[in-house]
Amino acid sequence: MPMNHTHPYIGRFAPTPTGPLHFGSLVAALASYLDAKSQNGKWLLRIEDLDPPREDPNASTRIPKQLLEHGLQWDGDIQYQSQHSAQYEKALQTLVSSNHTFHCQCSRKQLATNNGLHLGPCLCLTQDNAAIRLQVPDANYAFTDGVYGHIEQNLHHQVGDPILKRKDGLYAYQLAVVVDDYLSCVNHVVRGVDLLDNTPRQLFLMECLGYPAPHYLHIPLITNPQGQKLSKQNQATAIDPSNAKDNLLAALQFLNQPINSAMRDMPITSLLQTASNSWQANLITPSHAGLI
Ligand code: GLU
Repeated sequence: MPMNHTHPYIGRFAPTPTGPLHFGSLVAALASYLDAKSQNGKWLLRIEDLDPPREDPNASTRIPKQLLEHGLQWDGDIQYQSQHSAQYEKALQTLVSSNHTFHCQCSRKQLATNNGLHLGPCLCLTQDNAAIRLQVPDANYAFTDGVYGHIEQNLHHQVGDPILKRKDGLYAYQLAVVVDDYLSCVNHVVRGVDLLDNTPRQLFLMECLGYPAPHYLHIPLITNPQGQKLSKQNQATAIDPSNAKDNLLAALQFLNQPINSAMRDMPITSLLQTASNSWQANLITPSHAGLI
């Protein structure tokens, strides 16, 4: 059972293996690495391979290789969500027993009338071919983000009841991320701002499970010339390892961190050490670009 959630710093990078790392995911990896290393913390790597049909079979091996090519060495063994089903089921059963869930057979089409939100328990008569949802309260959940400041959402009106286990038996990201961060004693989450509005529902889930909440720091997204978040869906290109130093410097620049000319001539390990010594998360500009 995890023991200490306050000390020392434990952070993580948790990519979904839908494709190789692109510049946007390198920025997220670097920010979480530097935030951890600047506080003498551990930096874990977790591959979020929960949804095989959406994944690129090569990405789970390619992403760690790309991180190492950029000097980003994680602590401990790589974790794979595909191997954690037993832990997710155990947490799910805790939520079922404490009446926080309900079965749901609603289709996307049915939910479209509420902007896709599921509002309150279902009238579904059987549990066959049903998803399991978390019933959220009509209450505001808030937190203070390290870059974006005070964030608050009414879970019922703005989020709806999230799926925890899908009809096809796959566990949902919302459940998996909360269980894994808890079991790995992660107490600092640094990730892309596209997940900022997922945080209040994750805080509620932690509360239901009796888990402590980590600190959060969301970082802006890299966008393509059309203003969309870089992603495999819009053909973001894989980062080129032969430009590793330039990629890191460009990522530091995007994160608004100090760069001195000597860094250009340093080996990557010294560059990362220097960047970690001068890391200041409060220099990051809280942009909402690329959010839909
Ligand atoms: N797997 C998610 C992604 O690649 C990140 C999840 C998280 O950091 O909480 O976007």
